[in-house]
Amino acid sequence: MSFKSLGLSEPLLQAIQKKGYETPSPIQAKAIPSVLEGKDVLASAQTGTGKTAGFTLPMLHLLSQGAEQRHRPIRALILTPTRELAAQVFANVKEYSEFLNIRSTVIFGGVNQKPQVNKLRQGVDVLVATPGRLIDLENQGLLSLNKVEIFVLDEADRMLDMGFLRDIERVMKLIPKKRQNLMFSATFSKDIKKLAYSILNNPVQVEATPENTAVEVIKQKVYRVAKGKKTGLIIKLIAEGDWKQVLVFTRTKHGANKLCKKMISSGITAAAIHGNKSQGARTKALAGFKNNSIRVLVATDIAARGLDIPLLPHVINFELPNIAEDYVHRIGRTGRAGAEGEAMSLVSADETLYLKGIEKLIGEKINVEIIEGFEPDPNASTEPIKPGQNRNQGRRRSSNTKSSNNSRNSNSDRNKSRSRNKNSSNRR
Ligand code: ADP
Ligand code: MG
Repeated sequence: MSFKSLGLSEPLLQAIQKKGYETPSPIQAKAIPSVLEGKDVLASAQTGTGKTAGFTLPMLHLLSQGAEQRHRPIRALILTPTRELAAQVFANVKEYSEFLNIRSTVIFGGVNQKPQVNKLRQGVDVLVATPGRLIDLENQGLLSLNKVEIFVLDEADRMLDMGFLRDIERVMKLIPKKRQNLMFSATFSKDIKKLAYSILNNPVQVEATPENTAVEVIKQKVYRVAKGKKTGLIIKLIAEGDWKQVLVFTRTKHGANKLCKKMISSGITAAAIHGNKSQGARTKALAGFKNNSIRVLVATDIAARGLDIPLLPHVINFELPNIAEDYVHRIGRTGRAGAEGEAMSLVSADETLYLKGIEKLIGEKINVEIIEGFEPDPNASTEPIKPGQNRNQGRRRSSNTKSSNNSRNSNSDRNKSRSRNKNSSNRR
């Protein structure tokens, strides 16, 4: 199978060659022909399987075959959930269209809109956007979507997770009814099917499941550890393993910052990436991580979703996610392109239930290790940390527990975990 045999034009084949791709990935081989035929496509394949080129290449092919328009209205719109993803998809569009007469730009929030508006004024064929900024600029009359021919929803599952359903619906009202729709997603849930049903018109559905699922290629390990000893353990693992590129996941933004500071004060270069960071800080952190000037990137789930970080040997869950699927997404960042990866999770007593949920989802037990000096606390409560629990709920619960619980020990443990949870509104 070659890119040429998929029917892509010469300028695109040239760009593909420059990029160094030899053969289409399975999802590309399945999706590209249908997109070229002008059909609506629903494609799902896990993270890192080349979905971006799966829609970008045939989209550019179609746009370049179309009649050239003098005023360059926006003919293709690609929606992505995060700024980082928008920037990445845009970079890909730029690369693949190098030998075509196609103009593109990207817009997202968190930065000054002026340079974006200036670019739009010059006329673009392809617009990559996050929903918020897109709607904002449309409302200001600074862009028009009434000439869109191809509409792409990238990382559709994350869009839904991040609560963009309403925004997607608003965008749909701004683009012509007659258009080609492409929807790409890492997972294929009931909600995705529902969304697809409402957006896509008689779609071709393509799916690619790699021979080795992420879970099979990736070595997984659990360290049972006392909550208070996690920071010490993670620093020991990274320092003694002499690991150079480590992606660490925390549950909260606050937790990410705190851990990052501790790493730096132990002489490990680190940066945190989450929703409260400015666009500049996030871009800088990611660049530093990619060029190896930063050893550890501490991230929350949403900040890390979809980021293209090639060849990641080590992923560490400083805390387990409370949604089991997020675990699979997190560890899916190791062992990309067939390389072997190692995914480790530091698990304290209050995460026991989360671990069980994950093992149930992946259908296997993960090997447990205990490191001397970092043993789990035998007296710690196994009551789960409640995600999204706010202080008021905590108080209400506290008065109940007090009257019904006569063990002072477990009560104080719960109080401890609750006070840490003050930041739960700060999640992600
Ligand atoms: P996804 O959107 O499925 O998570 P991406 O589109 O971000 O994946 O691609 C993941 C990585 O694979 C990128 O670094 C991309 O350049 C690379 N890639 C994409 N297609 C190919 C291919 N046909 N051959 C080799 N590498 C590819
Ligand atoms: Mg993608």
